[in-house]
Amino acid sequence: MKSVQFVRLERRRYGWNVAVYKALDMMVGRINLRAALGALCVLVILLMLFWSRCGELSHRPSTNPLSERTTALDVIECSINTEYSVACKRDRDEVYIPFSFIHKYFEVYGKITATDGVEKFEWSHSYSKIYHPKKKYDPRGTFTTFENYNVEVRDRVKCISGVEGVPVSVQWEPRGFFYATQIAQFGLAHYSKNVTEPEPRRRVLDDGEKYIEDWIVSKDAYMARDFDAELHTNVMRFSTSDHPTSQIWLKVNVSQDFVLSLDLVMKKNSSLTVVLQNKEKKETFYLHYVTSPHLIKAKGEHIYYGVGAEPQWRRVTRDLIVDVQKGWALLDRPKRKAPRNKFKIASIILSGVGAIDNITVSSSEHMSHFFAAARWLTRHQSVTSGGWPIPVRRRIASLELKPGWYSAMSQGHAISVLSRAYSRSGDAEYVRAARRALQLLDVPSRMGGVKALWMNEYVWYEEYPTTPSLFVLNGFIYTLLGLYDLHILEGKPSRSQAKKMFDDGMTSLKTLLPLFDTGSGSFYDLRHVTLGVSPNIARWDYHATHVNQLYLLAGLDDDPILINTAKRWEGYMQGKRAAHN
Ligand code: CA
Repeated sequence: MKSVQFVRLERRRYGWNVAVYKALDMMVGRINLRAALGALCVLVILLMLFWSRCGELSHRPSTNPLSERTTALDVIECSINTEYSVACKRDRDEVYIPFSFIHKYFEVYGKITATDGVEKFEWSHSYSKIYHPKKKYDPRGTFTTFENYNVEVRDRVKCISGVEGVPVSVQWEPRGFFYATQIAQFGLAHYSKNVTEPEPRRRVLDDGEKYIEDWIVSKDAYMARDFDAELHTNVMRFSTSDHPTSQIWLKVNVSQDFVLSLDLVMKKNSSLTVVLQNKEKKETFYLHYVTSPHLIKAKGEHIYYGVGAEPQWRRVTRDLIVDVQKGWALLDRPKRKAPRNKFKIASIILSGVGAIDNITVSSSEHMSHFFAAARWLTRHQSVTSGGWPIPVRRRIASLELKPGWYSAMSQGHAISVLSRAYSRSGDAEYVRAARRALQLLDVPSRMGGVKALWMNEYVWYEEYPTTPSLFVLNGFIYTLLGLYDLHILEGKPSRSQAKKMFDDGMTSLKTLLPLFDTGSGSFYDLRHVTLGVSPNIARWDYHATHVNQLYLLAGLDDDPILINTAKRWEGYMQGKRAAHN
């Protein structure tokens, strides 16, 4: 955006209007009505042609009378609420204020855009987008609008764990930790993409059956096809000597798809290396997947991911570009982007002792990522509480949650993942884990749970279960969606706990919703009521989340407060405000 734009607040063309009225007046006075109407039509057409031409011209910077006069404008000081001053321009009675000032002062957004070489200035009140649901929310379908999410590329994701296949968060702890909310979002985003995207392209490079001759095996190394009793298929067993030149490699040359998946078992001190080349700059990067419990290391052009030290078969699915990007971030090159069309997979190198099968490159493997998240959730759920403890300290609104706290949003998101995992796989362990996750929603925050009560009456599932309670809106609604997912999955049992918790939550939501309305936006939480501090207004992307969530719920519950609030709040994003007295 250019630093200074001028906003003309009003634009009138008195001169033209007067001329047109005069012409009409003369004609109507002299000739009959029919001829007058004919002439009027011709005149209107001519006028429209002329005006549209004028409109075109006025958008062209070179012929815009405004820009021609820019240099001739006088400078005038604008005193802003008597507090400070801004250099503005004036043209007789009109004053032009720099948009860079307006942007900061009113938090509105603007940029110069060009369509077919015609420039214009686009002003928008918010930077976020509303998705109007096309059909009723389906717990087996996309999770809200998560098909648009790409969790792993976020800065607060350190990398995807080579052992678990799920993201590691650095949101509140730079060393990284597993955060159930983020892992569930990663799963739900991939699940939703799997619903909305076409089937991926897949190419099997080797399935242990017939392509073995493509491998290059150095003299002191060994590779052979062999039936594996555990996988019930032929696999490729390999071993290399300790000498660094002892290697087994496969020339690949794939430049379109970068999700690599394979079945792998390796003994200690073994590795699988993917050689990536940047097509333009002729740079080479090495992604090493090694038998180590370490998360990620990076040095020069080499990036290392630990895939675990246990000598057992595992399915490994890696987005190679994400793996490179996260390595670069460790090397203080976070700004460096890795566009997919710039790379090619040059080769795969095996070292050490192990076996490999089903080496595949794909455009995406969303369900693998989704089930990695679902499996992580079943493996790491607390048996006693049914929750996923968050192992880092969280400070919010001058309050503190000690490591080991629970979040209703984690519980709800996990239930949404587990419900979908059950409906896709039929594995009852997933639905049992989802039911266990309900327990904490009934335990008060001060007793280590996540339940708050508004005025001792209305239940609220707390994203951050502080005492006093905060009543965060978006996390609460996500929890409601988890409850809805499980209740629909369970069919219509007369005493579904999820259904009761959902109904109680909806009653609270409809009761408390007006408290979140600022008249021009929404509050993120109710800290201004419970803590007596200044209010915490939701920034536009959170406000948009509120609106998207309310539109979704309005499809499930016809209480007008939901749809009316959604519409009013959407209006706030276009600068509308509640009426004043
Ligand atoms: Ca095989």
